[in-house]
Amino acid sequence: MALVVQKYGGTSVADAKRINAVAERVLTRKQAGDQLVVVLSARAGETDRLIKLGCEITDHPDPREMDVLLATGEQTTIALFCIAVKAMGSEAVSMTGYQAGIKTDGHFGHARISWIQTQPIIESLQEGKIVVVAGFQGYDDNGNITTLGRGGSDTTAVALAAALHAGVCEIYTDVEGVFTADPNVCSRARKLDKISYEEMMELASMGAKVLHHRSVEFGKKYDVPIMVLSSFTDAPGTLVTREDETMEKMVVSGITYNKNEGRVTITNVPDQPGIAAQVFRPIAAASINVDLIVQGASGIPGRANISFTVPKINYDQTLGILGSLAPDLGDCQVMGDPGIAKVSIIGLGMRSNSGVATKMFETLARENINIKMIATSEIKISCIIDEKYTELAVRVLHDAFELDRKSPGGGNIQIQEEKQ
Ligand code: ADP
Ligand code: ASP
Ligand code: MG
Repeated sequence: MALVVQKYGGTSVADAKRINAVAERVLTRKQAGDQLVVVLSARAGETDRLIKLGCEITDHPDPREMDVLLATGEQTTIALFCIAVKAMGSEAVSMTGYQAGIKTDGHFGHARISWIQTQPIIESLQEGKIVVVAGFQGYDDNGNITTLGRGGSDTTAVALAAALHAGVCEIYTDVEGVFTADPNVCSRARKLDKISYEEMMELASMGAKVLHHRSVEFGKKYDVPIMVLSSFTDAPGTLVTREDETMEKMVVSGITYNKNEGRVTITNVPDQPGIAAQVFRPIAAASINVDLIVQGASGIPGRANISFTVPKINYDQTLGILGSLAPDLGDCQVMGDPGIAKVSIIGLGMRSNSGVATKMFETLARENINIKMIATSEIKISCIIDEKYTELAVRVLHDAFELDRKSPGGGNIQIQEEKQ
């Protein structure tokens, strides 16, 4: 008898019909002899609706109370799901994050799981029940309800699979697996059979919504194989696992985009030690996560410009912070551009292939897409561009790197060597 953790996303449990369909799928698996822990998201659109409700009361709702509010989305689904299973004559028990013993730190809205007290789940499994856990939530040292950040139900599922030593964590969603690009944006996107934790972590943190990036971190850390599958078909999915010989050795294995950031610039700051620290200290104090940073010379001798990107939800606040800092820094100007997107190419093969960046820049240039900022890591290159070109950029890059083709003989796409 195998212990399996399954997670179903918002579209998979969007209404009564779909909840019943998932319940049937789970019961079929149980009848085949497996023990099941099922993690559920809020129904599609529910978390957005709850956020809107909070924001109708005030522009800056209290974070603790927002977590109490948002956690109700998942609580509704687990109850409805158990009602469905019981109506079908089987035994199931719903558990909120608290009841399932999911302990987190106290960062409301983006809490991290620190510990799972698995006893209640194990006892219910031993009683032959299907255990149904609310995704995306836990509780902190003070007993407060916390949430894990958007998309966090994936992380609940993988963390539970690790804590319960389940053989696999199955993530059921509205696409058939992990693709070379968002299949809803790029019709030529190809489903991958397998992908390494490292690549998936980059894809997820660069915007491929299909898995929450911390779920992949947990998978890697505790060696939990993650299988991404469709809840609407029986097609084989994508296995996220350790890098191995049978994986496609693509130079670029995926393309992502992220439209959730805005760019801010402070111009003509003094070009001297301590200025960057002075600019970023109040931003960090406000718990704003800065992503890309570029500092360059301004037209004025002894002065520099600093540009960086922040989450769109923090964009106005960041402009405000920089505005109040500017008078202390001399003749500075603060500017912003919320209409940007980050397009990234990711692949383990980049480690050993030069010329990938040039190919990316040339491809964007051919479409007249201006690159505003660039960032690189060992297996990733990101470009900030105008938001309106996002989909076009994804498609032309997908074509340029021939990601629709599973190349013969292991699939290493030939990239022209960069001249030294
Ligand atoms: P769920 O509600 O099941 O958690 P999400 O909406 O969070 O589902 O994630 C699935 C979505 O991720 C897909 O509908 C797809 O549009 C998007 N996506 C983005 N990049 C990728 C990718 N590389 N592969 C698969 N899906 C992707
Ligand atoms: N319901 C949460 C969200 O919409 C968590 C999740 O679905 O994973 O972000
Ligand atoms: Mg999701």
